[in-house]
Amino acid sequence: MNDIFSKIVRGELPCHKVAEDDQTLAFLDINPAAQGHTLVIPKRFGTDIFDTNPEDLAAVARMVQTVAQLLLQTLKPDGINVLQNSRPASGQVVFYYHVHVIPRWEGDGVFSFWRPNPTDHAVFAALAERLRANNQA
Ligand code: 5GP
Repeated sequence: MNDIFSKIVRGELPCHKVAEDDQTLAFLDINPAAQGHTLVIPKRFGTDIFDTNPEDLAAVARMVQTVAQLLLQTLKPDGINVLQNSRPASGQVVFYYHVHVIPRWEGDGVFSFWRPNPTDHAVFAALAERLRANNQA
């Protein structure tokens, strides 16, 4: 693979490594939303949430918790956002699966996510039914 994060995994491009295990690598985001903004990636390539190997997703989730705890101990943030973008409509610009771990401080104004919409139980019931009907698991 010739993409940026594959090159970082292989050591062909530098990164500021935060933590590593057999399956994952955690390193500082090059344009951080906040101090300590860290990316966690699997060492095995996946594009996004849809095609990344489930074992790698689980390994990334464990590393995300490790990184969150490291950030909490080290920087003492008031909270942490865990964020994953899949496909351009969501904001994904690097097409190698990665999870953002972003320390947050009260009133930092880094971002707010969405404006809540009203509850509509009839619509929700029909939608939940459609989703359950498509669940092959
Ligand atoms: P996305 O929008 O795809 O979820 O986020 C991609 C993230 O990767 C961005 O926050 C961006 O700053 C970060 N990024 C892009 N290129 C590099 C790089 O070469 N090194 C590091 N450490 N981060 C990068």
